[in-house]
Amino acid sequence: MYAVDSSLPRRHRPVTRALADTGTLYTLAHRPKYLEMFLELYGKTVAVATAVEDEIRTVAQIPKLDRPHRDLVLMGACADRLVAKLDDQTITVLEPSEDSADLESTVQQQLLELDRVVAQRRGEAWRQIDTSRAKRHHGETESILVAADVINAGGTAIMLTNDGGASRVAWQQGISARNLRDVLAELACANPDLKEEDLLTAFREMTARFGTLPADVRPTDSSAFRCRALAAGCRACGPSAL
Ligand SMILES: [Zn+2]
Repeated sequence: MYAVDSSLPRRHRPVTRALADTGTLYTLAHRPKYLEMFLELYGKTVAVATAVEDEIRTVAQIPKLDRPHRDLVLMGACADRLVAKLDDQTITVLEPSEDSADLESTVQQQLLELDRVVAQRRGEAWRQIDTSRAKRHHGETESILVAADVINAGGTAIMLTNDGGASRVAWQQGISARNLRDVLAELACANPDLKEEDLLTAFREMTARFGTLPADVRPTDSSAFRCRALAAGCRACGPSAL
């Protein structure tokens, strides 16, 4: 299940910071054309937490020759594209504040609890202290902390994640999450030239290998990417239309 904030309009609404997690960025970087359009639409608001930067740079540092047998050819290429955006500061890197240390254990615990529930449902063994699991959630945890920092400082923040669990934990902290489907729908509203069929095809390609969305928010047909305005301006796609 994905925590959908139904108060948000379908079209893009600017925020102080949009905290993107690793999976969402990889899906976008899989199709560079859409990565560029996303970065243009979000502008200076696109940010990643330090841990997300680390995850991306770690993959990018794997030599190209070693990538095939580690099944990292595609992900490595995506990481390379994202590192270029980190290096030229198109994507801002933000560190959680010292004040967020208390929240960190809460958020980490909530993410681990969701893992436990999933493991239980699948009948798998799950250990409370499992450092690889905790590490896996490091990027998501920090993204939520940084978003909370922005909101506490009087700004607005959303989290960009394709992960249902992360969206629900973010929501528990009062942070709205958006996913690749939302981002592509926002692009459709911003660019009347984009065809909904092309966006659906792109979405399926981008999420075929990683960054898969929970079934409840996965688009079933191209209407997910249909701007209801059909002309520049797009008044129809959001309750807060100007
Ligand atoms: Zn629209």
